[in-house]
Amino acid sequence: MLNPLARYPEFQQARSREMLPVTLIGGFLGAGKTTLLNSLLLQGDGRRLAVLVNDFGELNIDAKLIVKVEGQQIELANGCICCSIRDDLVAGVERLLASDPAPEQLLVETSGVSDPGNILCTLNESRVRRRVFLENVVTVVDAVHALEARETEYAALFERQVRGAYMIVLNRSAVAGVERTRQVRELIDGLLPGASIFETADGTAPLTLALGEGRLGQSTSFRIQLADSNAHPFTSLVWRCERPLKRAEFSRAMQQLAGIVYRAKGFVNFRHYPLATLYQKVGSLESCVDGGAWGRLTPRTELVLIGVASNFDCEHITRTLDACAGD
Ligand SMILES: [Zn+2]
Repeated sequence: MLNPLARYPEFQQARSREMLPVTLIGGFLGAGKTTLLNSLLLQGDGRRLAVLVNDFGELNIDAKLIVKVEGQQIELANGCICCSIRDDLVAGVERLLASDPAPEQLLVETSGVSDPGNILCTLNESRVRRRVFLENVVTVVDAVHALEARETEYAALFERQVRGAYMIVLNRSAVAGVERTRQVRELIDGLLPGASIFETADGTAPLTLALGEGRLGQSTSFRIQLADSNAHPFTSLVWRCERPLKRAEFSRAMQQLAGIVYRAKGFVNFRHYPLATLYQKVGSLESCVDGGAWGRLTPRTELVLIGVASNFDCEHITRTLDACAGD
């Protein structure tokens, strides 16, 4: 097994007992980062795994979706830890380092537009650099949508996410099918020759593969390059609605917005339905699952919508969605 740290020479330092091992879990919008993170946390077996989760939108939906296990959780929303809220990342890591008992591992779920190279630069230039140890950089790739990414404004970002990884988790392989999955593997191999790829149909992966001695390594050389920090071509919007939504009209509205909204997630309050519904959309895939009882919360819809900035007309999106809450 090759030492993956060889790829990030700045991080090569003797690992001391006080150092906190950090694993980045990145990947494009909706690739399956939270699902992977949850599967790792559930295998934690009493280990103190701290989690730092970053949502690009103003609402941190992912933080609500992460399973509660032993250890701490820090939520950073309304910005991206690779560029706009880099100081928050460092402050979060400092808070964890100061906690007692200290976590044994830190898993960082990056926003879907984060460049792992930028995050590592931030840690490396920060006050905490001698107190953290880079354990792994995992990039989740969505086998269903990866090929399309090449043709878009965010192709460069997608490529940096793959090139910056030690290990690729190739998700949704069953939905994508054998042929498409093979093509995505080729694409990944072109970007990161000899990449360690773990294929999964449901976004889960063994903890030992991501952390610790058994983790998959990488042999390719990699130089950290700080990309233009304002380079993300994405923007987001939070849509809130106090009135219950009509299911069929909501689904029609989202279809109308298909070309504008690439990613959406949040809790929906459907009319004549007593529970919250967790709605998620990634490219062409949509899902509605039971989001649990509202409990003491007032039922209302809160959705984060993300799309390519050049094409993202907030007023049009709001108007289209407002229409499905009418009487
Ligand atoms: Zn960023």
